[in-house]
Amino acid sequence: MKEMYARLGVSEQVFACGERILEGLKDRFAQVDRVAEYNQAKVIAAMQKNRVSSACFAATTGYGYDDLGRDVLERVYADTFHTEAALVRPQITCGTHALTVALSANLLPGDELLSPVGRPYDTLEEVIGIRESSCSLKEYGVSYAQADLKPDGSFDYDAIRAAINEKTKLATIQRSKGYATRPTFSVRQIGELIAFLKSVKPDIICMVDNCYGEFTETIEPSDVGADLTVGSLIKNPGGGLAPIGGYICGRKDLVARCAYRLSAPGLGQEVGANLGQMPAFYQGFFLAPTVVAGALKGAIFAANLYERMGFRVVPDGAEPRHDIIQAVELGSREAMVAFCKGIQSAAPVESYVDPAPWAMPGYEDEVIMAAGTFVQGSSIELSADGPIRPPYAVYFQGGLTWYHAKLGILLSVQKLVEEGLAKIEEEK
Ligand SMILES: *Cc1c(COP(=O)(O)O)cnc(C)c1O
Repeated sequence: MKEMYARLGVSEQVFACGERILEGLKDRFAQVDRVAEYNQAKVIAAMQKNRVSSACFAATTGYGYDDLGRDVLERVYADTFHTEAALVRPQITCGTHALTVALSANLLPGDELLSPVGRPYDTLEEVIGIRESSCSLKEYGVSYAQADLKPDGSFDYDAIRAAINEKTKLATIQRSKGYATRPTFSVRQIGELIAFLKSVKPDIICMVDNCYGEFTETIEPSDVGADLTVGSLIKNPGGGLAPIGGYICGRKDLVARCAYRLSAPGLGQEVGANLGQMPAFYQGFFLAPTVVAGALKGAIFAANLYERMGFRVVPDGAEPRHDIIQAVELGSREAMVAFCKGIQSAAPVESYVDPAPWAMPGYEDEVIMAAGTFVQGSSIELSADGPIRPPYAVYFQGGLTWYHAKLGILLSVQKLVEEGLAKIEEEK
């Protein structure tokens, strides 16, 4: 094994250090496997209930009227998330698009959007109009209010109550930390927040940005009162096989509006050919619980390894997990570049390229990304990225298999050590 890793560029010292860390993680990994087992059963049950058949895998084109595969898949998602309805489409181009559809379908001029969990994910700033952008919600007369989290990362209930007014129509709750070093919320915490929001204003629509959270727990935000649960298929629920797509699960009336927004008023959910994506969508969803488990193991391993080397990691090595993202605060631009080089060099695809910081559409700061992926930009595949700004944190996620995640993490350590940016403890 040592020799095989050496061939891939991992030194004996780094490999041995990883093995010592892994010794202490057996119980954590067993727990991750239990969650995956439960979620695997949940997905199979939804597929059986809806009589998934080979006819569902046929490609359709044109308008896509009476598209069996698409309609059954949406029932499978709805039953897995325990919602009345679901919209799952290759026409939803990414997570930001899914969230934009859900927001713009359910907010009208004069309405106010509330984020009770502080600043939203970078790309949503232009969607909302926090940063000026053509076609933002702000341009259409939708205002925005925000209640920041308390310094310890908990909900500021007084600030939230004060922010709710007669215009407040929809609250957007981001489950995952995104590009911030605040904690990710558990589904149970999200449930408490939703209950509070509804106690202040019973008709408030609660939407959860579920990106990176799917299948990390046995329940989803839709199990604790979320009216809309939204995410990307090139993250967790696509299982690495979906080449594009997004989903919106939730209340029937709200999802119907999303479909009208996505296609056109009057057309809604009835149109939208599946373009041959059904085999990937079904099989990816089937594999997603185990793929997520592999990614979670990678995140737990990275947290413990980097923590041992003296870096601040969020979440820390012992904390429970509610998403697949691991932040490592590396403290400098150089260390971010070295880390990303390591991840890239572990890839099955384009392992020979060197990632470099670059300006990206939707992001304010320069961003560095390492992703040698089968699906471009897919972050359920092993990837690392982060905006070049203090505290110089990289956000590491994914890995279609645990072994690949492990290799990437070991190579990231290797690069940091080689460039004198980190030290590993020697065996005692
Ligand atoms: C990835 C992500 C998004 C946006 O998804 P894209 O597919 O990159 O557009 C939104 N919110 C969170 C929390 C995310 O992690």
